[in-house]
Amino acid sequence: MNNATPDTIRQAIANHPDPETGRPLDSMGQLKDVSIEGNRATIQVGLTSHSAPIADELADALTSKVVAAAPGTEVKVEFVPHERPPARAGQIGLRVKSVIAVGSGKGGVGKSTVAAGLALTLRRLGATVGLMDADVYGPSIPHLLGLSGRPSVNAAKQIEPIMLAGNMPVMSMGFLVEPDQAVIWRGPMLHGSINQFLSDTDWGELDYLIIDMPPGTGDVALTLSQALPLAGAVVVCTPQEVALLDAVKAISMFRKVNIPIQGMVENMSGFVCHDCGKTYDIFGRGGARAKADEMGVPFLGGLPIDISLRTAGDEGRLAEVIDADERARAPLDAVAKAVVRELATRASASPPKASLPVLLSLIHISEPTRQLT
Ligand code: ADP
Repeated sequence: MNNATPDTIRQAIANHPDPETGRPLDSMGQLKDVSIEGNRATIQVGLTSHSAPIADELADALTSKVVAAAPGTEVKVEFVPHERPPARAGQIGLRVKSVIAVGSGKGGVGKSTVAAGLALTLRRLGATVGLMDADVYGPSIPHLLGLSGRPSVNAAKQIEPIMLAGNMPVMSMGFLVEPDQAVIWRGPMLHGSINQFLSDTDWGELDYLIIDMPPGTGDVALTLSQALPLAGAVVVCTPQEVALLDAVKAISMFRKVNIPIQGMVENMSGFVCHDCGKTYDIFGRGGARAKADEMGVPFLGGLPIDISLRTAGDEGRLAEVIDADERARAPLDAVAKAVVRELATRASASPPKASLPVLLSLIHISEPTRQLT
């Protein structure tokens, strides 16, 4: 026997922050039910798909709090879907909760692979995700994902993005120009195209929009920062000293246009030989973590050189390989979870004031109660 009652359990976790908003779970109507049988407690928690990638971590945190308040309790956390539609982002029609830019100081470090991998992983872990290829100088997302076709314009005069597996909208300049056709971008034209990608594309409602940025230059970052609030930028680099210097430049570029830095990812961080099990640090390893510490930005994880990622990208099968190959996707899982965790940490440090959609969803939650009384 222990001292657990539904009330003590509720009290123990009522103030735990909802990962998406940072507000207490109970105040958001997300503590749906607590039941006890003997020393077993079952807690039903409403979770939005935006937080789904870190559901396991939330379950662990709630379990620890319950066990601290009522030692000896066996805890089962059950998640049920909780709806909270995204508000409009900025002045444009886009309905998205978190926009994340993936950038790098220079090309060839695996920025597009990480951007596509991040989008695919967040989707695999339960979130609704769109992917926008803003690397207009060398759009490689269509190739990595094996997507082709020309976006059409629908009856509402919106651009229909190309859908990956029917549920992940993807937009890229690569769908609009032939691969061998050079496009010379003048400032206003670039600005116009990026804005059109954001506001004239029928993205639907998204938890995350991942944007693959062009390497180095700041003009697309500036356009994005003016169009809508970005949750943050993920900066990809390889561990060599020269690459790290470029990454530092990318970080200061994002900071200049007021895009918060979500963190750094070290790509090509060692090579694990699957035949002999040895790790070879071809480009070195650990440099990005040290640089992230030095710059005061989070380190989000590292991806080793993985031949299956390279062949998957070359053959346009990145989505299939990430879905099927656990070894290849494990480092991306860790990076995606770190990104969502960072957002949750920031949200709980300064929970936003209740916006209209939140107020409406609370009214919606209280409706059944009103009908009963
Ligand atoms: P960027 O967008 O920075 O130019 P890409 O994502 O297009 O870089 O990657 C460049 C090349 O490196 C591609 O052939 C890609 O498949 C390969 N690559 C990227 N990351 C890895 C990795 N971790 N392991 C093996 N190959 C990789």
